[in-house]
Amino acid sequence: TLLLGIETSCDETAAAVVRGGTVLLSNVISSQMDVHRKFGGVVPEVASRRHVERMTLIIQKALEQAEVSLDDLDAIAVTQGPGLVGALLIGVAAAKALSFATGVPLVGTHHIAGHIYANHLVKPLEFPLVALVVSGGHTELIYMEHHNQFRRLGRTRDDAAGEAFDKVARLMGLPYPGGPHIDRLAAEGKPAYDLPRAWLEPDSLDFSFSGLKSAVIHLLHNAKQRNEEINSADLAASFQEAVLDVLVEKSIRAVKMTGVKRLLLAGGVSANSGLRIRLHQRCEEEQINLQIPPLELCTDNAAMIAAAGTYQYLDGKFADLRLNADPNLPLVD
Ligand code: ATP
Ligand code: MG
Ligand code: FE
Repeated sequence: TLLLGIETSCDETAAAVVRGGTVLLSNVISSQMDVHRKFGGVVPEVASRRHVERMTLIIQKALEQAEVSLDDLDAIAVTQGPGLVGALLIGVAAAKALSFATGVPLVGTHHIAGHIYANHLVKPLEFPLVALVVSGGHTELIYMEHHNQFRRLGRTRDDAAGEAFDKVARLMGLPYPGGPHIDRLAAEGKPAYDLPRAWLEPDSLDFSFSGLKSAVIHLLHNAKQRNEEINSADLAASFQEAVLDVLVEKSIRAVKMTGVKRLLLAGGVSANSGLRIRLHQRCEEEQINLQIPPLELCTDNAAMIAAAGTYQYLDGKFADLRLNADPNLPLVD
């Protein structure tokens, strides 16, 4: 199978060609990070406009680099949701236009399924597995027994992990997106500040990060009032450790509760070096098989969409020209 993937859910305009669900032939990404940085976050209108400007060129490049033509494709997979509706619409419109013009079938793919399938491009997924999905908009534990089948074990009740990283970074005066900056600072500091961990109910696999964020706000506020210096590296290390403690232990708990042997990491926060190290250590102790995507496949890209879309294609789950962007598309129905 040969699939073109298209991804425009947020601030990356991306297209990629994948063969057999696992072989990356091209993976073109145009990031708008520099455009949005001056606003301290993604501005939806600006993102949509940028996608319109870039989309055609990015698709052309992806096909060129893969040395394939539209006629060679078995399907076009596009991120249908979740994401910014105006941004999603650009990718969906492009995919529909191409499908209409060429007769190549269309597949509407879930962005989070894509993040999980980023791992498939490195080593084919083996089932059953538990996936920890940690990104800018999601923090979820997902159980998979087969391709294309997702069961949710837990989710965040408020902020996503990446969102918490970005908000705390902003409070600390770090540039957007803040996750990588906190990661870098944390490596230079010690977890000297006492911050809360939300374990929730004893067996719960849900997450909550808003209390942690509030605690950081109070800490910074109190320090300012008392004219005390805050050590940024120590604060970053303390915050990161509070997030990782819960992410890592709940993931291990999910693996034990389901009796699986494999844990998969997915989403932009997978790039966090502390998380990668901690998960490696804990999974080794618990004899759990851990799979972590390479850094370049952690954040948004279209290769992961083409990979996930391949199994929808193989299951005959096609979309037609009525396919619409869905900002709240559920992964589990
Ligand atoms: P979603 O996938 O839920 O729709 P998104 O696509 O915006 O959201 P991703 O692109 O998957 O999210 O990931 C971006 C997030 O990852 C940002 O919140 C960013 O701060 C975070 N992130 C990236 N690198 C790191 C890192 N090294 N440490 C912590 N967080 C990181
Ligand atoms: Mg992004
Ligand atoms: Fe994402």
